[in-house]
Amino acid sequence: MGSLSLSVETNSFSNGASTTHQRLSGLMEGRHFERFIEKLSISLVCLPVAEIRAEIDRWLKEIVLCNDLDRAAITQIDPKSGKLVVRQSWSRDNRLKLPDGFEVSRPAPWFDNYLMSGQTLVYSKVSEVPREFVSKDWNIFRRYIPKSNISVPLRMAGDVVGSVGFASFRREREWSPRSVRRFESVAAIIGSALERRRAVEENTLLRHELSHVARAAVMGQLTASLTHQLNQPIAAALSNAEAIQSMLESERPDLEELRGAISDVVQDNLRAADVIKGLRLFFRKDQIQKIPVDLGQLVADVVRMLGSDALFRNASLTFESPPSLPLIVGDRVQLQQAILNLILNAFDAVEGGDARQVSANVFVDGDCLKVTVCDSGKGIDPATVPRMYEPFFTTKPKGMGMGLAIAQSIVRAHGGSLTARRNADRGSTFEISFPAPRKELPAT
Ligand code: ADP
Repeated sequence: MGSLSLSVETNSFSNGASTTHQRLSGLMEGRHFERFIEKLSISLVCLPVAEIRAEIDRWLKEIVLCNDLDRAAITQIDPKSGKLVVRQSWSRDNRLKLPDGFEVSRPAPWFDNYLMSGQTLVYSKVSEVPREFVSKDWNIFRRYIPKSNISVPLRMAGDVVGSVGFASFRREREWSPRSVRRFESVAAIIGSALERRRAVEENTLLRHELSHVARAAVMGQLTASLTHQLNQPIAAALSNAEAIQSMLESERPDLEELRGAISDVVQDNLRAADVIKGLRLFFRKDQIQKIPVDLGQLVADVVRMLGSDALFRNASLTFESPPSLPLIVGDRVQLQQAILNLILNAFDAVEGGDARQVSANVFVDGDCLKVTVCDSGKGIDPATVPRMYEPFFTTKPKGMGMGLAIAQSIVRAHGGSLTARRNADRGSTFEISFPAPRKELPAT
């Protein structure tokens, strides 16, 4: 990360150490912004939703300190009053702290309308605030507002729902167009993290109440995560492109550095393309094709298809199914996709172990038709269980985090359920269960 450390330890700020601030001030202008954005984005996308608030607090603090500002605050519309109220904030000085629930438009009635129209509010000095914006008591007003301020509309699912504001009380400052854009990127990432939290909360509620619309809820959650995932490479690409622009302006550009920055842009683009590729299945326009499917045959096909993968990974892949099974009604390709995802995960789980065994089994259990995929891997880490079906959640260095989200969505769309457990001896078992199949296949 070079000489400019963005992950400054909290302690170095606790006494307002000015040397640290000097060194870090101007983060929104510097070349290290894309690393900052990357870290912000990764930290917010990886966290369980319950921890998002605390993590945003940490980042608000870091942004204030790294840019020598005094306060950062997030506001949202209060559903009861329709006014913008403070949801969370961090201030360098406790006297500037805005209490949660504080109605920001009280001293500045124009503030709500301006932001809700989707415009970023930027002023470098108080005299730039148009007097007509302030209804009365200008002299009192100017004593309390920041000397310089930038407030960016906070968007969720495209709608403005509040603002993310950054204020300087100690001194006036200039905001370059580039730094304004960068604050806007930060607000976009915070917005998508909050959107993910909202979608997960709504999704949890929906799951209890309306299990049949689970797929739609996953779609909402997925869209929120997608926005989050795409914001990061896009902001990084923009930042790198700007760096290239300024390098080209110098008389003798450093070709090596230019090459590095261009290859970063290419990587950012590839990352964005990967995210989109992983979603193709969800965005397919065609409806589920409901035809009678022999699950035994279908799983056998997937196992055959993955035979060379098993060889390549030095793993054994076995398959068992009774000769005749009831048919279920469903979409062949989607069901294959769900089972393929489970088997590929099982291969990943056994990688590096001494016994690399994966087995797929289809059988009838009471009124249910079940498919299990068992592996002899490390077993599911209990810490990942609450999040493993979330889109984009992954513990793998090159994972996409879509395998289980897609599998679960497909299984649910077919009226089934997907569960996972640790095996008594080693590894884990993922089990798909479909209820009450209707027809019997003739025995072969
Ligand atoms: P990805 O495989 O890209 O990580 P998935 O949605 O398929 O995405 O899986 C999410 C996470 O669930 C994995 O990163 C891993 O931590 C956990 N997981 C999935 N399958 C297994 C398995 N068979 N054994 C242990 N952990 C698993």
